[in-house]
Amino acid sequence: MTQLAERLSRISEPETIKMAKLTRELKAKGIDIVDLSIGEPDFDTPPHIREAAKKAIDEGFTHYTPVAGYADLRQAVVHKLKRDNNLEYAPEQIIVSTGAKQSIANAVLSIVDPGDEVIIPTPYWVTYSELVKLCQGEVKFVPCSIENKYKITPDQLEAAITPKTKLFMFSSPCNPTGAVYSKEELAALAEVFARHPQIFIIADEIYEYINYVGKHESIAQFGDLKERTVLINGLSKGFAMTGWRLGYLAAPTALAKAADKIQSQFTSATCSITQRAAITALTGDLSSAMAMVAAFKKRRAFIYGALSNITGLKVIEPEGAFYMFPDVSAFFGKSFEGATINNADDLCMYLLHKAHLSVVTGAAFQQRNCIRISYANSMEKLEEGMKRMAQGLGQLQ
Ligand code: PMP
Repeated sequence: MTQLAERLSRISEPETIKMAKLTRELKAKGIDIVDLSIGEPDFDTPPHIREAAKKAIDEGFTHYTPVAGYADLRQAVVHKLKRDNNLEYAPEQIIVSTGAKQSIANAVLSIVDPGDEVIIPTPYWVTYSELVKLCQGEVKFVPCSIENKYKITPDQLEAAITPKTKLFMFSSPCNPTGAVYSKEELAALAEVFARHPQIFIIADEIYEYINYVGKHESIAQFGDLKERTVLINGLSKGFAMTGWRLGYLAAPTALAKAADKIQSQFTSATCSITQRAAITALTGDLSSAMAMVAAFKKRRAFIYGALSNITGLKVIEPEGAFYMFPDVSAFFGKSFEGATINNADDLCMYLLHKAHLSVVTGAAFQQRNCIRISYANSMEKLEEGMKRMAQGLGQLQ
């Protein structure tokens, strides 16, 4: 009897991807679904970046590249980290990959051994825990409360650390909550890490530019933390380049070397054409990225207002990214045509099938009272989506 590997039973397919699949299937049947489940900008990639890619094809950038990315691309990342984050890295500390997701995978595979504990504040982005489980690490979730805007406190962090703790992983701005850690909040966490020098940090900053409250701050700026922080970023969200597949990590040299080694056996490198375009994105002016952020900000104001007007939803105004994460627990126990909504999964299925609105269950992010609604969509779709949401929730008894 042939058998698939045991490790498959340890991980699950992301709920976000499952929902996108289901939505596509219903759409293919001709059902008009408003899809607010997707975590990607609805904008096209800015024209100057597209032009750079076309030029790269014509100039013959169509061969294998170095595993870690072209030398001038790594230099462009160094430039970006200095320009935007005032962080000094050498090019050999930068490893370019096929997306922030792969960069995180490279880092986790480089850090986590079986039995190592990894602290993940929740709600969190679905992939973190699954990568840890692939490495047979122990995931230690730390639930963060809506009262603290879903951010981990220094006391919670301290309490979760044990001698076995090897890694702490988080995103700011956060998917799914939109939480953004301020400089003071990060400094307070950094004080805790200063007492525990054995812990690595993966700081996922993929939503860096999509920040409505002020300057992006990185935990790598504090004390010696840069020596054990893997900073993750990429082009998917800020430049509307999800399909191009480019992410990168910046890390202490030994860790960057490890990531390079792992990647060399998986993908070799990301697409040569994407890499050339990325140089233009990273070194060019940011006005097109900022125009997208301005549009997200308007949509946020609309959707925050619309959700706040629905009785029963508990909503906080997100500080970054492009998601709303309302608490929907007031609807648990209610029914429609004899079917009872017991949890956020049921509510999402109800909204999908009865209101033709696609959103993602909070269970996917370890917060079972919430649902995630993406506002990376046109105002027209958001208006229609909010109408369907209000009607759908309104008819639950
Ligand atoms: N981190 C977070 C928090 C994300 O939301 C996503 C995309 N949904 C990623 C990483 C992966 O991004 P990429 O497209 O660069 O792989």
